[in-house]
Amino acid sequence: MVKILKISEIGSVTEYVSASLRADNELPKIKQRLSGNQKSMMKTVESAGFSCLMCGKCCERAEDDNSVYLLPEEIESIETLGFLRENFILPLLPDFYETNDGTAVFNESLFMDMLSSLSEQTDEEGRIHTFGWMLQRNQDGSCIFLNSESKKCVIYAVRPALCRTYPFFMSETCVWKCDCEGLGSIEKTKTDLSIELTKALQERALSDYADYIQTSAAVKEFYDKVQFNNKTGRVRFEENLKKNLVTFVIYDSTGVYAAECRIF
Ligand code: SF4
Repeated sequence: MVKILKISEIGSVTEYVSASLRADNELPKIKQRLSGNQKSMMKTVESAGFSCLMCGKCCERAEDDNSVYLLPEEIESIETLGFLRENFILPLLPDFYETNDGTAVFNESLFMDMLSSLSEQTDEEGRIHTFGWMLQRNQDGSCIFLNSESKKCVIYAVRPALCRTYPFFMSETCVWKCDCEGLGSIEKTKTDLSIELTKALQERALSDYADYIQTSAAVKEFYDKVQFNNKTGRVRFEENLKKNLVTFVIYDSTGVYAAECRIF
């Protein structure tokens, strides 16, 4: 398992101001494109015949990668329920769980391989640079907010957009589907649910794009100036790893952060 010991802000991004002006300029055009595509989005959702079977498999990682990407505003919403961010977020990383016949498990050697694959993003202090956040998962790969007995989401009212729109997601202006047993379980997705999902997908596309523009500003101002993959940094990284510690630098749409993590 991987847990955050401490998060600290290490950079405030002045370029956010111009990025925000750029977003103000570009978002109305995307909104217009999405509105023009609304009918076809709605048709895709309706014809998918989706009804949630309340099986909890999507949150349990029964099939494949169940990483839940989090926007900074979603982290803040979850915090309003009284959870401390250190206890439910991790830097967004490539998958490090192993799934065999529908059973998942945290695999330490897979985690170490994943870290090695990121070695080119190690700075001179031995920190790995990443972008954005995701939800923590348990040893068995299930989301930490899934109640294992009731199979219900503990933060349902403020669950992230990815969960609200599952099993649908957007690529450009088109709707796509993930594997889910609820798909095709009825002839046609109910109209009120189709409207709700289409709206949530559009909102998610807009928030993701605004977040991307802001995060790009942080990358330009800080990440692009970092000296990566040097010898001293790799030595420090290896020394920390022997103590089961790893530090990430994370860029998001609100700043640049360092997260010290322990591997259990
Ligand atoms: S936040 Fe809730 S809906 Fe999303 S994966 Fe976790 S338990 Fe499931």
